[in-house]
Amino acid sequence: MTRPLTTALLSATAISLGLPVLAEEVNVYSYRQPELIKPLTDAFTAETGIAVNVAYLDKGMVERLTAEGDRSPADLVLTVDISRLAEVVEAGLTQPVESDTLRANVPSIYHDPEGHWWGLTTRARIIYASKERVAEGEVTTYEDLADPKWEGRICTRSGTNSYSLGLTAAVIHHHGEDGAKTWLEGVKANLARKPEGNDRGQVRAIWAGECDISLGNTYYMAQMLKDPEQQAWAESVNIVFPTFEDGGTHVNISGVAMTKAAPNRDNALKMMEFLTSPAAQQIYAEANAEYPIAPGTEPDDLVKSWGEFTADDVNLMELAKLRGAALRLTETVDFDG
Ligand code: FE
Repeated sequence: MTRPLTTALLSATAISLGLPVLAEEVNVYSYRQPELIKPLTDAFTAETGIAVNVAYLDKGMVERLTAEGDRSPADLVLTVDISRLAEVVEAGLTQPVESDTLRANVPSIYHDPEGHWWGLTTRARIIYASKERVAEGEVTTYEDLADPKWEGRICTRSGTNSYSLGLTAAVIHHHGEDGAKTWLEGVKANLARKPEGNDRGQVRAIWAGECDISLGNTYYMAQMLKDPEQQAWAESVNIVFPTFEDGGTHVNISGVAMTKAAPNRDNALKMMEFLTSPAAQQIYAEANAEYPIAPGTEPDDLVKSWGEFTADDVNLMELAKLRGAALRLTETVDFDG
């Protein structure tokens, strides 16, 4: 895409005068992988002429932004999980962003009321159930998982993993801390083995006959189906969207936040508006089999084939606040022990 003529002329003038070139750019720190981000940044640059520089991080986002302080080149932070978004916000590293476009594109339960973080896609925390050993309708709620009828039949990853803590925070939201403690004890008593491995590892265990149901995020079904080695695991299970007895299905988000130091604030806002646009959400959601959240958008056909669900209607900031309590309870009941 050619840049607007005025920019090109300004740049040419700046060069001829020996002044620094004011490039139109935006800088992103991302916990999300290049294959998910690249199609979006390419589309954004094509539409706006603004170059996007992405630093892909595995960990240490908060530490890095803190160390860089006011001199940080980062404008935006891209990550999954409300806990990670909340972590950056709580460290005082973000700024509130207000925009009619953002408000129109992002339902209110998926953004910070003060605008410090904005959701882009959701993923549901679901039950993978053995096709052979679990009848349809046998498990329908998260509360069910603590029922003794599942004794020795559940597999899950560590209770201290962020996905697990998000769900436990939701249990606290619905049942209070005492109720959540009882639930954790009940689930622990039903485990077929000590928590280990990742979400896909639990489905593998179902395929291998070690357990009958497991907890996992929706998009792992798509990832398993794409992997020749894991396809059989995926095909051994049905997807069940459990709900809370008095609520919906637990979801978490991927989202974006603007850093406090953002040197390219205007471009960063443009990119946030672009990322939340229905078209961009669709690209982003499809890349990892997630759910777009803008009004009028739909997931891709594979994701749709898993069925429909009603997301729990708790604001995710509420869950972020309960995560400390969730971790404490998980340790108190020695969930992984
Ligand atoms: Fe994941």
